[in-house]
Amino acid sequence: MKITEIHVYAIDLPVANGPYTSSDGDIHAVNSTVVELISKNGLIGYGECCPIGPTYAPEHTLGARAALAQMLPGLIGEDPLNRHTIHSNMESHLNGHRYAKAAIDIALWDLAGKLYGARVCDLLGGARSEQVISYYTTGLVSPDDAVRIAMEKRDQGFKRLQIKVGNRPIQIDIEVIRKVWEAVGSDMRLAADANRSWSARDTIFASSSLSGVNVVFEQPCDTLSEINAIRNRIQHPIYLDECTTDLSIVAEAAGSGLCDGFGFKLTRLDGITGLKTARDICQARNLPHSCDDAWGGDIIAAACLHVGATVDPRLNEGVWIASPYIEGHYDEQNGIRLINGKINLPKAPGLGIEPDMDKLGTPVASYA
Ligand SMILES: [Mg+2]
Repeated sequence: MKITEIHVYAIDLPVANGPYTSSDGDIHAVNSTVVELISKNGLIGYGECCPIGPTYAPEHTLGARAALAQMLPGLIGEDPLNRHTIHSNMESHLNGHRYAKAAIDIALWDLAGKLYGARVCDLLGGARSEQVISYYTTGLVSPDDAVRIAMEKRDQGFKRLQIKVGNRPIQIDIEVIRKVWEAVGSDMRLAADANRSWSARDTIFASSSLSGVNVVFEQPCDTLSEINAIRNRIQHPIYLDECTTDLSIVAEAAGSGLCDGFGFKLTRLDGITGLKTARDICQARNLPHSCDDAWGGDIIAAACLHVGATVDPRLNEGVWIASPYIEGHYDEQNGIRLINGKINLPKAPGLGIEPDMDKLGTPVASYA
């Protein structure tokens, strides 16, 4: 089998009831990149990557498209079933830019599933459940709003809540966390995600002020050095997110006990292939983790969902998808939807998503 055509699409995804707020600023819309990979026998695989603007991470939308332009011509004629060869091919054309490579990787898994008549989760070892747990993220809001959202989401069936904190006086963050815990702490697992914005000083202060409050600190500080410096000076569990820029760091952090879990981003780890390995590292060290991506549409949500469905339930912190925050779906019938804190796995082979090509529009780049 050979890859005969590849098309790249750009699609605007407006934030529903936006903006969405975090310590990195307000998000009104994102611009996603979809890769369509066509094989000689007519099978099609879809992949996607969607950085949240240019400031959340080193990745950005135009960077993704430039990286794809660097790599995609070299993939024409390659066997889409041989991921090892394709990843080597991508490395031979471009260093880094894992998020763009992830879009290709996702498309390869989708295409393989369609060829074998199997869902991606089945290729990954099998789904643990047809309904995958998710979690809700509050956005950076006031203490009262956070409590209102927390109670609402608890009543909707969510078992886990991530409270966005950071970029404001630490006393407000402490108040938010304490009030949410008092309101829903007996019903929901809580994480406070500062998205790298707390100083070591504020993290130590928050931990001592929140003694007895069961909350995970997700990526409180910016660097691994800061996390390492405070690791034994705070009493709360630490999860890493933004620092896990490759599998080597995941293996090192898991192996050295630098953290107690992870918030994984699929496109940061080369796609489904890398996240599968991260899943197995966590299984070996009993480390809880989520299977997320930052933002994007149905394709990336499905990719996260298929991996998340295969995670040991003891360690599964859920799959975060942008669907509740995004207007519309690529696939209205099979699009990934969050219902009462859970997400149903698609039934069709591959990712189970067939995009409406009218919504994707005209390709911004094509290779054959
Ligand atoms: Mg996070």
